[in-house]
Amino acid sequence: MKPTRFEGIRTAAVHAGEEPNPLTGASAPDIVMSTTFLINPDVSFSANLLTEETPFAYTRWGNPTVSQLEQKLAALEGSEACVAFASGMAAITALLFRILKAGDHIVMSDVTYAAASELANDTLPKLGIEISRVDTSDPENVRSALRSNTRLVYLETPTNPILRLTDVAAVATMAHEAGALVAVDSTFATPIALQPIALGADFVIHSLTKYICGHGDALGGAVCGSQQEMALLRPMAVHLGGILSPFNAWLIMRGAATLPVRMHAHEENALTLAQYLEGHPQITRVIYPGLPSHPQHELAKEQMANFSGMITFQMRDGLAAARVFSTKLQTIHYAVSLGHHRSLVIYIPTEDMLKTSFRLTTEQEASYRHFAGDGVFRFSVGLEDPADIMADLDQALAEIE
Ligand SMILES: *Cc1c(COP(=O)(O)O)cnc(C)c1O
Repeated sequence: MKPTRFEGIRTAAVHAGEEPNPLTGASAPDIVMSTTFLINPDVSFSANLLTEETPFAYTRWGNPTVSQLEQKLAALEGSEACVAFASGMAAITALLFRILKAGDHIVMSDVTYAAASELANDTLPKLGIEISRVDTSDPENVRSALRSNTRLVYLETPTNPILRLTDVAAVATMAHEAGALVAVDSTFATPIALQPIALGADFVIHSLTKYICGHGDALGGAVCGSQQEMALLRPMAVHLGGILSPFNAWLIMRGAATLPVRMHAHEENALTLAQYLEGHPQITRVIYPGLPSHPQHELAKEQMANFSGMITFQMRDGLAAARVFSTKLQTIHYAVSLGHHRSLVIYIPTEDMLKTSFRLTTEQEASYRHFAGDGVFRFSVGLEDPADIMADLDQALAEIE
């Protein structure tokens, strides 16, 4: 089923993919937990022959609740289709394995979500796939890295954890001229802030675990793209098996319905907190795309319709401060993940990231440190009252020399 188009993104968030159950009249979506479906003996079982019209047969191939979520996500991203996965990493793995084969080349941002970076650095070369890691915040670096066998350019904007941006339209134009496809991990931006398909990207990747679910209670992932590309990706999802549970799909669908209003509130809170931190004597640096002090604020204003709720900040002795935060913060949880209704903060030491996740050249390390210094607090500003978030930070900061 093609996603229905809606005029406004709030209406799409609420209604796309959903309609009352014609049998029961239920207004809210059902959770269909059945793993198996009664089928017609003439329908093929092969994942390679699945089409949009294939009836449901087995939940690893397709499920009514998961399919409703996929339609909602496609409507939000303005893409023709979507494939949902068990996690963001399952989505990334399936896309890389679907697009790349031995002898191919991928150009990938030198800084991405750590597990994506480790997967690319450790696993792709073993499969005979060549990889160039470049600082994609300068599109010229992408241009220089493109080769005749480049199949995919992989971006993340804003990138986790340093909030550096990439000009998606500029990179997409270059990549397409060279015959390569473009994937954007848009987890930090969400479809409310960034519309990568409209900017020319071929694939949008999400960790649904973050803003789209929004409540910190379900892992999920997705890739959005054309009907043709998603039809090719579906068998990879079926074969790798990292498919989304219908229960998680239902929870994420419920979260996605309020995504536009939540992102509005996340942005409002984040701007207030970013300004507060920027004025705080113990904070040495604040990076937020919505602040004029962000090195790429002009690109942020041009490319993003919302600055999202992610801030990074730096302190003189980050690790010592992190120890205090982890015991003294109350409203804000000292924990990984992001995009939840609850504020979360975590310290990410630069040295650790360089040792474990990234393999940066001297020049790339300088760019990383330009945004991250010796380490950043990655602050996912939640939906609490901003005054309470500030008061919590104030009392914890007062405990730090
Ligand atoms: C969390 C995250 C992922 C991985 O998602 P999971 O759902 O945890 O597998 C990928 N990309 C970004 C930018 C993330 O923040």
